[in-house]
Amino acid sequence: MAEDSEKKEIKEASEKLKNYGWKNVTEKQTEEIMKYAEGYMEFLDMAKTEREAVEVTRDMAVSCGFADIDSVDSLHPGDRVFGVNREKSVYLAVIGREPLTEGFQAVGAHIDAPRLDLKQNPLYEDSGLAFLKTHYYGGIKKYQWTTIPLSLHGVVVLTDGTKIRICIGEDPQDPVFLVTDLLPHLSAKQNVKKVAEGVPAEKLNLIVGSMPLEDADSENVRKRILAILKEKYGMEEEDFRSAEIEAVPAVKARSLGLDRSMVAAYGQDDRVCAYPALTALLRLQDAPRTAVCILTDKEEIGSVGNTGMESRNFELFLMKLLEKSGITSPYALQKMLSASRALSADVTAAYDPNYPEVMEKNNAAYMGKGISIKKYTGARGKSGASDANAEYVAYVRGIFEKEGVAYQSSELGKVDEGGGGTIAYILANRGMDVLDCGVPVHSMHSPYESASKYDIYAAFRAYKAFLESM
Ligand code: MN
Ligand code: MN
Repeated sequence: MAEDSEKKEIKEASEKLKNYGWKNVTEKQTEEIMKYAEGYMEFLDMAKTEREAVEVTRDMAVSCGFADIDSVDSLHPGDRVFGVNREKSVYLAVIGREPLTEGFQAVGAHIDAPRLDLKQNPLYEDSGLAFLKTHYYGGIKKYQWTTIPLSLHGVVVLTDGTKIRICIGEDPQDPVFLVTDLLPHLSAKQNVKKVAEGVPAEKLNLIVGSMPLEDADSENVRKRILAILKEKYGMEEEDFRSAEIEAVPAVKARSLGLDRSMVAAYGQDDRVCAYPALTALLRLQDAPRTAVCILTDKEEIGSVGNTGMESRNFELFLMKLLEKSGITSPYALQKMLSASRALSADVTAAYDPNYPEVMEKNNAAYMGKGISIKKYTGARGKSGASDANAEYVAYVRGIFEKEGVAYQSSELGKVDEGGGGTIAYILANRGMDVLDCGVPVHSMHSPYESASKYDIYAAFRAYKAFLESM
């Protein structure tokens, strides 16, 4: 009896939670929300780049009984598999009871995030200081990346195939790196520039040293840096040419606010959707239709390349699912895609009372009010939008409402104020029904974004309910 009344209590609270956010959350639910956020923050600290996110994901999947699709001969309902695409994107599936050709349920998020990449000839010395030149990745406000501690993550691949992993600046004992900015005393000219022009891209140079190797000829600071790289990592200067090294904020994810109700961290676009999508799939007990989680790369620069969502490597994963399930019809792949449904799990802009002028209050997403669905994205007259069909939006609403998941409906800011897109249109172009559905964040693309723990947990519940649906 006690259990029943507890279930009833949670169900009633869930009902209210649909509309009111934190206000009607029970103590038990708050505990659950906070606990879930702890796991999320650990994930953020371990997965600051797409490669790290794939590695952590693979480990989590294996410990939840998932096998590499290439190690499996045949697939049956209940089987759990994953496929890694060049260490930068990963697809996971739980095989459902329905035939694959009847379609699957997918939640797709991205695991790349805006940052500063090192150029391929990065190292130089100027006025007794050594620097690494960077090329920014994704849409950043460049001034935000000055005078904050940065760490270096990535790989250096030698011509013999040896792969050297780099991660400097995360351990408290590690040094960090930074981009300088001008002192206010000498900023008269910088201060009157447009914000976008205040810090030009070619000034985003990382300071990496100031100590000469010996007091002989020239460029001794640079030479000391090279000596350190050789000694610690076994690399020569030319090896930067086949390196992928990303400078990201050297800060940990933290609870935000005296009430600890939010998370502040780097890279929440889009790991704040990727983690809920992943954990929802990993915890799936039962899949009526095959459930798929997509964690993709390169969304921030247009989903291009063989690790982005446009890559045919996703189809290859799907073909393997079909083949190993014994389905060989030439129409099977398209039949399956056209019958499939997806949530494009990406962040949206949370209403920020400091900048109300860019938002339209009735169609803004609010922090702490649940996950936000966006029927369409795009800019101006819905240009470039993926516009979900009303029938499909109703289907998704039905799932959330039945499950008591708090959700809101929003657009990304006022019409003609700007705009944006996600991977939704790419999946939709393949014939799937797709709806944008993600967590609202403040300060998107900044080095330290914030999101509500309530919404993060709502995302988990929403994705799980969706993946479990017929
Ligand atoms: Mn995103
Ligand atoms: Mn983004």
